[in-house]
Amino acid sequence: MKVDVLLTCDRTLMSNYHGKEFLGFGTSAPPNWIPEFMFRQLFFPKMKKVSGFPWQAPYGLRKIEAKLLDEGIDAIVIDPDDLRKYEAKVIGIYVMDAFGWGPSSTTLAGIMKTGEPYLAKYFKKLLQSRGYKKLKEQGAKTIVGGPATWQFHFKPEFLDEYGIDCVFEGEGEMAIHLFKKALDGEELPKFYKESKVPTIEEIPEIKRASINGLVEIGRGCPRGCKFCSVTLRPLRWYPYEKIEKELMINKRHGLKTAILHAEDVLLYGQKGVIPDEEKVIKLNKIAKKYFSHVSWSHVSFAAVAAKPKLMKKIAEILLDEKQRWWGAEMGIETGSARLMKKLMPAKAKPFKVEEYPEVIKHAAGIITDNNMIPACTLITGLPEEEEEDIIKTIELIEDLKDFKSVIVPLFFVPMGKLKEKDWFRKEEMSELHKELFIKCMLHNLRWIKKIADDYFRDKKIHSIIKSFYILFARLIEWQAKKKGVLE
Ligand code: SF4
Repeated sequence: MKVDVLLTCDRTLMSNYHGKEFLGFGTSAPPNWIPEFMFRQLFFPKMKKVSGFPWQAPYGLRKIEAKLLDEGIDAIVIDPDDLRKYEAKVIGIYVMDAFGWGPSSTTLAGIMKTGEPYLAKYFKKLLQSRGYKKLKEQGAKTIVGGPATWQFHFKPEFLDEYGIDCVFEGEGEMAIHLFKKALDGEELPKFYKESKVPTIEEIPEIKRASINGLVEIGRGCPRGCKFCSVTLRPLRWYPYEKIEKELMINKRHGLKTAILHAEDVLLYGQKGVIPDEEKVIKLNKIAKKYFSHVSWSHVSFAAVAAKPKLMKKIAEILLDEKQRWWGAEMGIETGSARLMKKLMPAKAKPFKVEEYPEVIKHAAGIITDNNMIPACTLITGLPEEEEEDIIKTIELIEDLKDFKSVIVPLFFVPMGKLKEKDWFRKEEMSELHKELFIKCMLHNLRWIKKIADDYFRDKKIHSIIKSFYILFARLIEWQAKKKGVLE
């Protein structure tokens, strides 16, 4: 079949993770004691096809697909195994963590020490596939984009090895002129960085289903943490109508769940850092109108604590006999006010940085009371981190023992305004770092069974597979001890 532009991604990304977004975290693990075919089934099962095309696809690919179609360019999103069935002039590949250098991959690789993470392995597999090679032999040009594009600067020879013509850095809508150039047979730059961002009108609505019903409600973040690449983008919130159109697309394609995506869902519609109750409530009501289960991608502790009664009101909208909890990712990052002042001074706003540990504890209580289950992250090895900072974080984690959550410590990876700094590596882990990791692991083991009971209850099969996930968590702990990362 002939088409102008084929859009795809590797196997770890073309999955809905059993409808449980958090399981996608497993793709950043290296191969381990669970046989690969079983691990794949557990953490990133193959996406079902509808009329020959992936039923759901990563949101970023859906946006590019929509933009290309709006520009009158013939484009489709396909399963990576189907590349061989097509002839195309351009292949667009979405990549999350090309070489496994992202924070969760480097952390898991550091602990488990069993090789290249699955997401890097499967990205390479895609480029080594017969289908990809056939398209390249026929002259197709390859454009790669996504959050991991910074990694290619450190491995430029990889581009020649796999025939990647252009690596695009920026918001995808700004890459359309590159696709047009490729279609016209023009030479493409090896790297193209676009710092201009599209206006809300220039951002199209997706035309087919996104993974687990994820829809953006805005882009950017007002907090400006130095280690974060999102910081570099301006803040934009989408109007309700735009969001609702995408929810309806997913509904029409048979999805039962929605994930509202923003760096801080509670700040919807705001320029500052205090949630507007009316806007957030309206937004969640709209989503719940269409879906039995609605979750959020990210929210901040500070925003939860800033409007303590709001979470209860939202729980009353979202939770019912079909939905008993909702999830979100939350960045704790550190328990040290000293480090916060240096690297993330606005993270605690509207509170003072000195109040941050108390803000976290207060918010944790509100979250648990309202049955939200977050996956939290910490960053270890931040530049200028000192022993007293790690001790403060350890103390905070101890105080959070009743917080129903998963807390994942990550190694610092140089990004955002700190991209010139050094990576943090497992060899640099001090005794205090190890203690912090142990505290988090004990916290997680304490909660994982209870969380798994909530997490895996929608389908009969869930009760069987649940035990495998608990086993995997215990295997990480065992391996970390065996390899001497944790004592
Ligand atoms: S609050 Fe989160 S998204 Fe915003 S700048 Fe900080 S780390 Fe990035």
